[in-house]
Amino acid sequence: MNVLVINAGSSSLKYQLLNPESGVLLAKGLCERIGIDGKFTYKADGKATKDAVDVSMPTHAEAIQAVMDALTDPANGVIGSMKEIDAVGHRVVHGGEAFNKSVLITDEVLKAIEDCIPLAPLHNPANLTGIRACQKVMPGVPMVAVFDTAFHQTMPARAYMYALPYEYYENDKVRRYGFHGTSHKYVAGRAAAMLGKKPEELKLISCHLGNGSSVTAVDGGRSVDTSMGFTPLAGVPMGTRSGDLDAGILQYLMNKYGLSIDEMLNILNKKSGVQGVSGVSSDFRDLTDAFERGNERAGLAVDMFNYGVKKLIGAYAAAMGGVDAVIFTAGVGENSAAQRMAIASGLEFMGVKMDADANKVRGKEAVISAADSRVKVLLIPTNEELMIAMDTASIVK
Ligand code: ADP
Repeated sequence: MNVLVINAGSSSLKYQLLNPESGVLLAKGLCERIGIDGKFTYKADGKATKDAVDVSMPTHAEAIQAVMDALTDPANGVIGSMKEIDAVGHRVVHGGEAFNKSVLITDEVLKAIEDCIPLAPLHNPANLTGIRACQKVMPGVPMVAVFDTAFHQTMPARAYMYALPYEYYENDKVRRYGFHGTSHKYVAGRAAAMLGKKPEELKLISCHLGNGSSVTAVDGGRSVDTSMGFTPLAGVPMGTRSGDLDAGILQYLMNKYGLSIDEMLNILNKKSGVQGVSGVSSDFRDLTDAFERGNERAGLAVDMFNYGVKKLIGAYAAAMGGVDAVIFTAGVGENSAAQRMAIASGLEFMGVKMDADANKVRGKEAVISAADSRVKVLLIPTNEELMIAMDTASIVK
């Protein structure tokens, strides 16, 4: 079975063609500058990477057509015809409370995704455009929507409610939704496989630490709390996002500097986080380098991030009444041994004991805790596209 996974943005579209049973990636690439001019990148398994080529892409439909042409190209393609694509899995950012799992796309589903646009005004319209373009170019091929929020719909009310007047939840759907659900679900499933246990038997804390970061408590295979909130701005400090903060700061700064709410939110989303604190970069590698050259603020930014993650691990262990394993994933979690060590050290009181040598690893599944650590610490590279392909396959079968 072959599943095409599509992640559509407003002017870009990432794609992968995968076999969800074997996990084999047949081809992947990127369409950029859709609606402007059009740049197309394609990489087939076992073949040399090609530079981006110019392909006219007035709309997402031409982008999808370019993907089809490349996949079926006699010289560099990986399939004979479009018939060899059994289904398409679409990443959709926001499913609101309407979707607690992936679903086959129907007209009603498209309407419900549209209804979630106020919750994700930048992302859901782009995701819908990608779906409609695929339907146009690939009529009759079953399509599945996989939501970033769906995995977190199992959170209990005490975790997802904000302590605001109740009508803002009832009338306006203001609540914690959480994001990165596809990644947390994937690594939680892999963790169970690595530990040789059923998901129902495990209490896990999944730390997705990348440019955007979130930490999730997974009890018995279900998300029971997560650090991102109504939007992806909440939780730990991120590359450029502030993470949690006292809302009183908004009033203070907006009054003092005459900022509009849009200007204030732009600062919180794009100029804060480790970038804002360090004044150096949003990239953790740059911060580590800068700190090694003596930049104290770069060190402080990384320290604040690590501390934020550590506090959540403690909080979620308390929330679940224990923890069997802590998982590190995404750019920082998969690559930075130093940050994993900084986050997980000092947690010996709750049974977390790292193995410094085992932790000297990057980008592959590994147990990085000591043999006698009561709580296992796992490095698990995330694979959201494979998770989307697996969900898609299980629905269309
Ligand atoms: P995104 O949220 O954009 O998908 P990624 O999961 O790719 O992000 O993570 C990007 C982050 O991972 C960047 O901040 C980058 O600095 C960080 N990263 C990648 N490699 C390393 C490394 N060796 N050490 C520390 N951070 C790293």
